[in-house]
Amino acid sequence: MNEIPLRRAEAIRKEGYAVFDFRYLLEESLSSHGHLCPGQVLGVRMSIRGLSEIGILDPKGRDRKSIMVFVEMDRCATDAVQSVTGCSLGHRTMKFMDYGKMAATFLNLKTGRAIRVIAREESRQKAKEYFSETKGTYEAQLEAYKTMHDDELFDVMEVHVKVKPEDMPGRPLRRIRCDTCGEHVQDMREVHRDGKVLCRPCASAGYYRPAGRDIF
Ligand SMILES: [Zn+2]
Ligand SMILES: [Zn+2]
Repeated sequence: MNEIPLRRAEAIRKEGYAVFDFRYLLEESLSSHGHLCPGQVLGVRMSIRGLSEIGILDPKGRDRKSIMVFVEMDRCATDAVQSVTGCSLGHRTMKFMDYGKMAATFLNLKTGRAIRVIAREESRQKAKEYFSETKGTYEAQLEAYKTMHDDELFDVMEVHVKVKPEDMPGRPLRRIRCDTCGEHVQDMREVHRDGKVLCRPCASAGYYRPAGRDIF
């Protein structure tokens, strides 16, 4: 028999549908996130839906160069998206869009197909109703999100996403020195103003402010 064993992070195609191993992916996700929570369940399911829609069956294997994901929240679910898709900031395949929304867009870089999956606000209430007799809100959501139908959990929309060359994985397109602080900026994140090249924090307020001491 030449049967290739299925790596469970990978989906199988069944009657035209991608079938992922939800339980395995959830286990894998919680071991990297550190705890089981409603966000893990939601993030895993969101990823499964997104990947299926864009035709990515083996995100961490043969399809790893074909995928990019845009997450709109820095919450528990984000870790689950990273775990299932294998996309990360370090690989430049995960983009963090600071919108505070429980949503993510899954982009197939080869076909250009992009699907945005949004967790429905109503699902929070529905989850409580399903398990209201026996559990608190947190436990109710945890259990309900495992079993609720996709249509109850998510709204799904097809979108267009244009990725700039300087945002793609691969070698940096440019490295340039800031005229004010002298630090180097790559990937064309510099600002040109009045003939000067500035890094973003020098051009406008950054998240940090020098405390007045350099420590060597
Ligand atoms: Zn969590
Ligand atoms: Zn600077």
